[in-house]
Amino acid sequence: MDAQLETRDKATDRHDEDDAVSLKAQKAALPLYATRIKVYPRAVTGRWRTIKWTVLVLLLGLYYAVPWLRWDRGPGAPSQAILIDLDGRRGWFFDVVLWPQEVYFVTGALILAAFGLFFATSLFGRVWCGFTCPQTVWTDLFMLVERLIEGDRNERMRLDRAPMSPSKAVAKGLKHASWLVIAAVTGGAWVFYFVDAPSALVRIFNGTASYEIYFCIGLLTATTYTLAGWAREQVCTYMCPWPRFQSAMLDEQSLIVTYQKWRGEPRGKHKAGQSWEGRGDCVDCNLCVAVCPTGIDIRDGQQIECIGCSLCVDACNQTMSKVGRPAGLIRWDTLASQQAKEAGHNSGTTGMPWRPIRPRTLLYALLLAVAAIAMLVAFVLRTDTDLTVQRDRSPNYVRLSNGDIRNAYTVKILNKQQSAQQFELALDGLPAARLGFVGADGGFTVHPDTVGTFRVFVTVPADAAPSGSKPVQFSVRDGRGRVRASHEAVFVGPNR
Ligand code: SF4
Ligand code: SF4
Repeated sequence: MDAQLETRDKATDRHDEDDAVSLKAQKAALPLYATRIKVYPRAVTGRWRTIKWTVLVLLLGLYYAVPWLRWDRGPGAPSQAILIDLDGRRGWFFDVVLWPQEVYFVTGALILAAFGLFFATSLFGRVWCGFTCPQTVWTDLFMLVERLIEGDRNERMRLDRAPMSPSKAVAKGLKHASWLVIAAVTGGAWVFYFVDAPSALVRIFNGTASYEIYFCIGLLTATTYTLAGWAREQVCTYMCPWPRFQSAMLDEQSLIVTYQKWRGEPRGKHKAGQSWEGRGDCVDCNLCVAVCPTGIDIRDGQQIECIGCSLCVDACNQTMSKVGRPAGLIRWDTLASQQAKEAGHNSGTTGMPWRPIRPRTLLYALLLAVAAIAMLVAFVLRTDTDLTVQRDRSPNYVRLSNGDIRNAYTVKILNKQQSAQQFELALDGLPAARLGFVGADGGFTVHPDTVGTFRVFVTVPADAAPSGSKPVQFSVRDGRGRVRASHEAVFVGPNR
């Protein structure tokens, strides 16, 4: 018996070893990267395609046109409505000027955008990916150009299989040249957000623009051309992190593009006049796969590659209309509704209404509202004057010949207005203090849109001087006595 067991154990060990060897061999045979299977999306028309074109025109129109909007801010100020002026270290947004100290507004805008994205995803799945993501929008544009030059799916496939010929070289050359032009215009438009667009355009063409401008345009041309022309769906599938963690925002009540399996299966070809009894509505025309920009089959269930572009919905609706079946075999729906319909298909009940209001969406809406209100409050409370005060530390204080104690400060007043302002400086917290100024006689003139720097001396009689440090507050007032900005500081006296 023992001998039998030993023999069996040895056989099992050998089997395991064989498995391990075979696994190793398989692993060795597997390439590190999967070979890309080129996707040839077919053109489709329909409601969702129209929405996608509309969004594309709006977004690209905005992107290319905004740097050319002019805004009169008076002499000495840029006339570009939206300009991120890196040299001048400020952002111009119509009548609003953001200074480097207010970079938290940019952070706030990014936080708002993130919460907005979480909220939209929890409601409508990958609506961002399918309709508004720059990768989707530019890829759609590049595909349109490709289709206009090389033809639709079948023609493009034939052209790629055909040996090189003059007509193929012309078509390919024209396509890549067009892509490069779009990519260069895209890179140029980005640069125009950071420099005055009309004058920069002239400098770019006459060769007098800075190296940084040419470098940025070159970099963005290369990335746009590569990502939208060549990489396409691979960016969404392999490079973008969003599909990986967006599933944390989705639940069974999020709207997504779904194939109604309970209705479509069993699928199969269908001839006109044949009965629909005992079979599903899917006629296996493969149109949903042919139009998919990521080349997947939605009938296989939810997949990370699906960007929710809805083109398969349009494609399938066309087929359903042709074969005389109800539209919506592929549709926007929730998983909960699909499960209910699948159960109801057998038991006679219908789907489940969409529940947009649920803890997850309420939480994202709340976070979005809090961030928006915080931004709004910060914006309303922002002033057009800023004050910073820095005390000299070496020495900490000076004892004058009459025994008075003096501290010296460097005061910087930022005037964000477009006209020169006259300020007065006041000090609270040391009633006996006298203020002395270098280069100012109690009044501080600060030129428009600049920082005025002044030396200020605070002197206190010896008997009123604090022992050690005492908090004080500097404030600047305008001509009408209104406090425009204040800053906490300390006054230091000898320890007693
Ligand atoms: S499966 Fe449909 S919704 Fe998803 S990416 Fe493909 S065409 Fe778009
Ligand atoms: S388009 Fe509709 S009918 Fe055609 S294969 Fe896809 S799911 Fe089936």
